[in-house]
Amino acid sequence: MAMQVTDDDPVEEPAHESALETARRQLREAATHVDVDPGVIERLRHPTRVVEVSVPLKRDDGTVEVFTGYRAQHDDVRGPYKGGLRYHPDVTAEECVGLSMWMTWKCAVMDLPFGGAKGGIVVNPKDLSTEEKERLTRRFAEEIRDEVGPSQDIPAPDMGTDAKTMAWFMDAYSMQQGETIPGVVTGKPPIIGGSYGREEAPGRSVAIIAREAMRYHDLDISDATVAVQGFGSVGANAARLLDDWGATVVAVSDVNGGLYDTTGLDTHAVPSHSEEAEGVMAQDAPNTITNEALLELDVDVLIPAAVGNVITRDNADRIQADIVVEGANGPTTSGADSILDERGVAVLPDILANAGGVTVSYFEWLQDINRRQWSEERVANELESEMLSAWDDVRAEVEAADVSWRDAAYIVALERIGKAKEARGLWP
Ligand code: GLU
Repeated sequence: MAMQVTDDDPVEEPAHESALETARRQLREAATHVDVDPGVIERLRHPTRVVEVSVPLKRDDGTVEVFTGYRAQHDDVRGPYKGGLRYHPDVTAEECVGLSMWMTWKCAVMDLPFGGAKGGIVVNPKDLSTEEKERLTRRFAEEIRDEVGPSQDIPAPDMGTDAKTMAWFMDAYSMQQGETIPGVVTGKPPIIGGSYGREEAPGRSVAIIAREAMRYHDLDISDATVAVQGFGSVGANAARLLDDWGATVVAVSDVNGGLYDTTGLDTHAVPSHSEEAEGVMAQDAPNTITNEALLELDVDVLIPAAVGNVITRDNADRIQADIVVEGANGPTTSGADSILDERGVAVLPDILANAGGVTVSYFEWLQDINRRQWSEERVANELESEMLSAWDDVRAEVEAADVSWRDAAYIVALERIGKAKEARGLWP
């Protein structure tokens, strides 16, 4: 079933901005800086399609519950649709569309041959047993089977899903297709065609971009203080790498709150979400801190790596960090973005900073097509060089056009997408 997505594009930022509103606002802002046909921009405001499916699940107690699932495919001018599957109670069609737009830009900034997609199920995965999650995933894979495929649309993990979810998805798809097709999803366990280094890739790219941003702003990493909101795969890996590279990570948090130590936390001793769910607050530290207060700490680098919309017009004036590196997708609303920009805070956007995830997904897809696995070292080296090349492209635009890091990343992405659309033309 095709979903109707609201076509509003309000000028004033509402109290609660949806991912779609933020994505469209950012597109409109970036469009003012690029020489791309307005018809192309208009096409990019709309997804190609949004599929809604009902996903019935037999619960462990024998009762049947029906969940709603979505897959939004935004644009595929540069290659197959690509993006995660999210299991979260707040998933909506509009949110999937906004997130799918970010995937289109993210793949283009990284110069990957993919377009953008995002999907998910409206469900709280904490309410499901492992067996229920498996049945739900297998049935969802079946319901969207016609939409996905290694050269069509390639899902990956996102909030509430992980390598195990991808393994079930890949198995369900392969069983129905009658052959093993590892390239239908990325983020799988390495034993069935997943890539080494995929799990830590988004956090690694956040750390690389934070390191380059510090260097650009003449801040020695060994003098830098860092606060990280969210200690899942993105936040924990970013915090630990920056800690290893000499930064002082003074605060980390999970959904229940955070730990704060001005002399620096031992980030390896704090369990990440996958090591011990919601285990941060059980650790010893001189101080605890709320998630709201963590964002406002006087640190050099702030990494919001939990959920979207945490830096808003309400708290943007109180953000004291000089550099914000977006680990989560969409942590800064567009109203907050303008305030931070006016205040001279450098905001390194999600579509660049956390793009290590989809970049290693691309490596995984190549490995699946070639049926040949890369070593962890090769993945880390190639990721490093892809991130530095994207960093250079975006930095060059910051300097040439005198725009924010976000606008620069959008300019790089939009020019690539715009040129591809103009070269291919509008069919028929
Ligand atoms: N869900 C991740 C993201 O938001 C990864 C997507 C992918 O690897 O396809 O970037």
